[in-house]
Amino acid sequence: MTASVKISLPNGLNYDQPTGLFIDNKFIAGNGEKFTVYNPATEEEIITLQGASEADIDKAVAAARRAFEGEWSELETKDRGALIYKLAELIERDRKLLASIDSFDNGKSFADAYGLDLLESYNVFRYYAGTADKIMGKTIETGPTKLAYVLQEPLGVCGQIIPWNYPFMMLAWKIAPALACGNTVVLKPAEQTPLSALYFGNLVAEAGFPPGVVNIVPGLGGVAGKALASHMDVDKIAFTGSTATGKAIMKSAASNLKNITLECGGKSPCIIFDDADLDQAVKWSHGGIMDNMGQVCTSTSRICVQDTIYDKFLEKFTQRTKELASKIGDPFHEDTYQGPQVSKAQFDRVLGYIEEGKKSGARLLHGGAKHGDKGYFIQPTIFADTTEDMKIVKEEIFGPVVAISKFSTEAEAIAKANDTSYGLAAAVFTQRVARAHKVARKLQAGMVFINSSGDSHFGIPFGGYKSSGIGRELGQYALDAYTQSKAVHINLGTEL
Ligand code: ADP
Repeated sequence: MTASVKISLPNGLNYDQPTGLFIDNKFIAGNGEKFTVYNPATEEEIITLQGASEADIDKAVAAARRAFEGEWSELETKDRGALIYKLAELIERDRKLLASIDSFDNGKSFADAYGLDLLESYNVFRYYAGTADKIMGKTIETGPTKLAYVLQEPLGVCGQIIPWNYPFMMLAWKIAPALACGNTVVLKPAEQTPLSALYFGNLVAEAGFPPGVVNIVPGLGGVAGKALASHMDVDKIAFTGSTATGKAIMKSAASNLKNITLECGGKSPCIIFDDADLDQAVKWSHGGIMDNMGQVCTSTSRICVQDTIYDKFLEKFTQRTKELASKIGDPFHEDTYQGPQVSKAQFDRVLGYIEEGKKSGARLLHGGAKHGDKGYFIQPTIFADTTEDMKIVKEEIFGPVVAISKFSTEAEAIAKANDTSYGLAAAVFTQRVARAHKVARKLQAGMVFINSSGDSHFGIPFGGYKSSGIGRELGQYALDAYTQSKAVHINLGTEL
């Protein structure tokens, strides 16, 4: 049993933070590289952890394999569902603490962590708890005396690698469907935000899961993540993060031809036609890029506005940005809209893009610099009159930086929107239903928001076209990602 450390959170909550790896329902010491977790609002160190080494990953995978071949696979699906339901209840019980932990090491506002991330997380566990005993294949008559039926079987040991922008929610999206389908899991949280995932180990043990069904292995991406993605006894790898890392993981996963689900980056367009409700378009397109400090893979970071309303839109969008820029600050303050970027590396990266934007000739309408002297805060930044060749239009920035340009015709808007290697999401603002549907059909994106932005729901598939990923998460679609079908052919004929 490794130590835990007492942590006092800025909102007065105190708790015991486990510091090891969670394997076989126990916390054990890691043997890999040390890494430090920071509070991005103050730049202060929270804790230094010792991550998983390659040998630790072997240990976790072996535990998951034993569990998969043992008690877990013998459990009736209704009992599997009951355990997942119990986890949902424990997450709801500890909602305030888990939200506080995510706010502490990620920097997102506590209000968002509590109101969005944690609410979604226990809803996802509940949804899949109800799914566990409803996974089924089809029966097909293949001839007058022949029959085939299909079993939807679990894949086995699933490696799951998650990012730092929604620390607990990404864990929920990954673990809940994998368990519902009867798999076992080895999950690696991001090194910037591993605390809530480690705490979750307590809840897995408390819920009564057999040892080895869920294992949590914090560590460095290039060590623990790589070892998991390339492991010969892991059957699936599910990943959310940048496209560059997604490509590296896909290569590692080729070692034993693992099943993969990749949810990668985006540079999502937002088209605003002149028949849109302008105030609504301003509100949603602003949230579409500025919510969660722009650290959302579906962020609508390229706004394309019809020329007839371009100036009016810029004026209103800048006004709204100014208003909400007054709510930058302490993530635990109840009025805060914008916290810091997650880390020094992200802070520097985003400021680098802002400098690039200034040099490119785009018109800077708001922001353009860091905010304050302490913490990784960045002013919400608006660039107008951008063109498709600019780096700030082509590349994912993952910060509160938007590129706005104009178009004149519907065809031009669609061409601009699709002029990207990414294809995660897209938004369309218009009051004409026929136009909304026509444009939605033409957009090369896995998700389209009409008169909205950033929507997701645990029952609806989430994932991207083109370089934004492979496969879908959530809803019944995730069952395809976590099962494989076995066809059983039966000969019922009696003649020889
Ligand atoms: P960022 O660059 O913003 O940290 P990444 O996409 O690189 O985002 O990270 C997302 C997750 O992928 C993290 O958990 C990280 O540790 C992990 N990761 C990074 N590099 C690798 C790698 N080569 N193999 C496996 N996992 C990795």
